[in-house]
Amino acid sequence: MEKFRTVRGVHDLLPHDLDKHMKVINSALEISDKFNYSQIEIPIFEFSKVFTKPLGESSDIVTKENYIFKDRSNDELMLRPEGTSGVVRAFLNSGLVQDIPQRFSYYGPMFRYERPQKGRLRQFKQFGVECLGLSSSMADIEVIHLGNEFLNKLNILEKIKLKINTLGDFESRKNYRNALKSYLKDYQSTLSKESLIRFSINPLRILDSKNEEDQKIIKNAPSIIEYLNKESKTRFKNICKGLDHLKIEYEIDKNLVRGLDYYCHTAFEFTTNELGSQGTVLAGGRYDGLSKMLGGSDVPGVGWAAGIERLALLVQTELVNKTDVVLIGQTENFNYLLLPIMNKLIQQGIKTEIIYSGNLSKKFRRANKIRASYAIILGEEEIQKKLLKFKDLTSGSEELIDLQQAIKKIII
Ligand code: ATP
Ligand code: MG
Repeated sequence: MEKFRTVRGVHDLLPHDLDKHMKVINSALEISDKFNYSQIEIPIFEFSKVFTKPLGESSDIVTKENYIFKDRSNDELMLRPEGTSGVVRAFLNSGLVQDIPQRFSYYGPMFRYERPQKGRLRQFKQFGVECLGLSSSMADIEVIHLGNEFLNKLNILEKIKLKINTLGDFESRKNYRNALKSYLKDYQSTLSKESLIRFSINPLRILDSKNEEDQKIIKNAPSIIEYLNKESKTRFKNICKGLDHLKIEYEIDKNLVRGLDYYCHTAFEFTTNELGSQGTVLAGGRYDGLSKMLGGSDVPGVGWAAGIERLALLVQTELVNKTDVVLIGQTENFNYLLLPIMNKLIQQGIKTEIIYSGNLSKKFRRANKIRASYAIILGEEEIQKKLLKFKDLTSGSEELIDLQQAIKKIII
């Protein structure tokens, strides 16, 4: 019989890995809550336009990475490749525009048709935050601060660097775009095929190229900083100032651009050297034009998204999932009597497993395997004395006590 596989780049998550993912997600939720971000859940698929319109024709996601399909009513739908567009769409539909600022967090699976490799999957999870309705640079500082604290909470900050840049406002970007184009014009014959396409659609994206030849050319390209108008320059300075006040270290990377068209001003990435070329673990920026592109009013926004799989690879594994106590009946006839005992234990928040079958030595092997700390054993003698045999599986000591005493010993 044929054995079914998962689709390429799509993985099952077994308990050990999922535990790590949940640790990352729970840390993110906890810290976001402290920063007053509220969790929101948005659909996993939407009308394609929600993504294609704001992401722009030249983005990788739209040109080659999308999972697009028609449903039975011939509607063109897309599995979400990212969260920001959906969150902003939800915000606009909900009428919360009257009630800004709004701070949201979300997490869940995203889908991109990419070449699968370590840290690059076709179904992967992101955790993200979006701060909507604040144009002040304080909001940019806030989301970077939140990202930094999240990585700090995961205890991985020392492996990570923060890079920031500004893309300026529309006017600055237009001037820079022209300057960059005229610089790149002379290199058209050496640019990679992909960059050549970007040359006419979105030349800024060439700065993002991973091609070695392209990178040599980019090295001497003009820098956006020189083309910023006064307002854009002040904004960027203010953000750096905020980070200085927080003692968050950063590096200005003039070639940092975000892959998506809707970004302006601040762009940032937290990256590590420990994951090969998939080193970006958290990335974001300001996207003031997005809500208008989605048919809403002009609501500024700033946020980021973090790759859960990449973060999980960085988080130290501690062997999790220890069992507190196992319940063992001398024979299977005692299993029913173990049920109310289990009930009391779990009500006390104690992680419990009844080992239903096998002889005593087999049951103890199982207890060992699931790393149980204690065993409660019930047999004829215990029933007669109305007590339980309580065994500390680390020291091996045994005693006859009642359930209340056992609970006390387990909880301490
Ligand atoms: P990259 O340059 O690595 O392709 P990106 O610019 O496409 O990243 P974003 O759209 O900014 O990535 O997504 C934010 C984060 O989500 C990334 O920094 C990364 O951690 C994670 N991520 C993006 N694509 C994938 C993927 N295919 N598999 C796993 N994680 C991903
Ligand atoms: Mg990508």
